[in-house]
Amino acid sequence: MTDLQNRLRELPQISVLLDDLRVAPLMQGRKRDWMTRLVQEVVADLRRRLQADRGPVLTRDELTDQAVAAIVRGHEALLRPAWRRVLNGTGVVVHTNLGRSNLPAAAADAARTVAMRNSDLEYDLAKGARGHRGRGVERKAALLTGAEDALVVNNNAAAVWLAVRFLSRGGPVILSRGEVVAIGGSFRMNEIMAETGCRLVEIGTTNRTGLKDYDAAIEPGATVLKVHRSNFTVEGFTEETGLAELAELCRARGARLVYDAGSGALFPFAEVGLPVGETELAEDVATGADLVTCSGDKLLGGCQAGIILGSRDLIDGLRTHPMRRAFRVDKTTLAALDAVLTQYLAGERRPEVPTIAQLALSLDVLQERAERLLAALEPHAPAGWRGSVAPGRSSVGGGSFSSASVESRLVQWDGPKDDLERCHLKLRLGDPALVGRMNQDGLAIDVRTIAGDEEDLVVAAFVAAWSQP
Ligand SMILES: *Cc1c(COP(=O)(O)O)cnc(C)c1O
Repeated sequence: MTDLQNRLRELPQISVLLDDLRVAPLMQGRKRDWMTRLVQEVVADLRRRLQADRGPVLTRDELTDQAVAAIVRGHEALLRPAWRRVLNGTGVVVHTNLGRSNLPAAAADAARTVAMRNSDLEYDLAKGARGHRGRGVERKAALLTGAEDALVVNNNAAAVWLAVRFLSRGGPVILSRGEVVAIGGSFRMNEIMAETGCRLVEIGTTNRTGLKDYDAAIEPGATVLKVHRSNFTVEGFTEETGLAELAELCRARGARLVYDAGSGALFPFAEVGLPVGETELAEDVATGADLVTCSGDKLLGGCQAGIILGSRDLIDGLRTHPMRRAFRVDKTTLAALDAVLTQYLAGERRPEVPTIAQLALSLDVLQERAERLLAALEPHAPAGWRGSVAPGRSSVGGGSFSSASVESRLVQWDGPKDDLERCHLKLRLGDPALVGRMNQDGLAIDVRTIAGDEEDLVVAAFVAAWSQP
């Protein structure tokens, strides 16, 4: 018999594990249905490890103990939330993988109330009859952008699909080769367009598409799509046709124009020191595109949603589109978005939205926060670690201001490279997790994306990571 067969013979049997006194109590009632599968997965995992491992031979008892421990851990994990709070030390404000924008408290409260209590989001209280879902929210979006009307859908991907599908009705859709973008892992503009059933007409080149290219491509029934280059820039010998001149051309030639604005800024970000380049939705709408679409949780600072802006006629048409229901948002989303838009309507200077507040933090405040954090951490730092407050740069993220960054302050740790990496791993595995950034000087925490009331949690996370063996 081979060594491997010997090892595998010691694998505990499923039935034995199910009867184990440490496992059996976890199998009460209906739990048995899903716990059995967990036990099978643990044994399969162990088998794979034995097949791969050349380590010391383990006895059946040792393997059983390992399996039981994994089953208990797996059981515990399934009874905890499937997500974990993260302290964002990356300096990326709208972090696509860490939940994008954080809602203001007013929006979270509104979502909570609507989630737990009945509401009139789809009911006309005066008439005592069914009302239009989300109309009040959409009115606020329209007022803030100067559009006649607005429609809220599940996300911007859905907004673009619906807008193009509705206007093109299977006809030609003209798109610059410089704007056939990919967003995130699975959103590719050419593939989305294919799914609308339109005939995609790519024009121009990667680096240059001029008005003449559009002019030559427009045919009867054509729809032109312009896409904001959210997450990349092109430099060198380039030409891009602006939205205003494109709108003029489309008007003259009777073509429809859809603009995917990406982020959806409702605030002049130049005011907080970000470079000009990202237009505001009101400007996009004013240029005369037939439909403008954007995300609700990027620069807008709300929740996952897509907003489509346009004339009353077109938005009414979209409202009755057969696919609309498939893209409609949940009541909690509507309530949260409503509260965020209300912050914009109410704020005389700056809406109280965390995304904007973080981008607006002054260097003085950041310096002060970094110094305070460093002072709290230093007494706990392991020997050989050196902490400092260092200049760094935060980025907007979320595919906004693609190449722009703002000066920030880092709590920077230098020390043995392996220790730094290990510490970062422990921080990421903590609860709440802390995600920082490894740079050439070591491990850095950008204080811009750490909320003021999270500093104690950051200290506790480091202390816990440093005190683990
Ligand atoms: C982010 C983005 C999208 C996708 O928006 P979601 O709200 O994530 O669906 C589409 N187009 C552009 C230009 C974007 O920047």
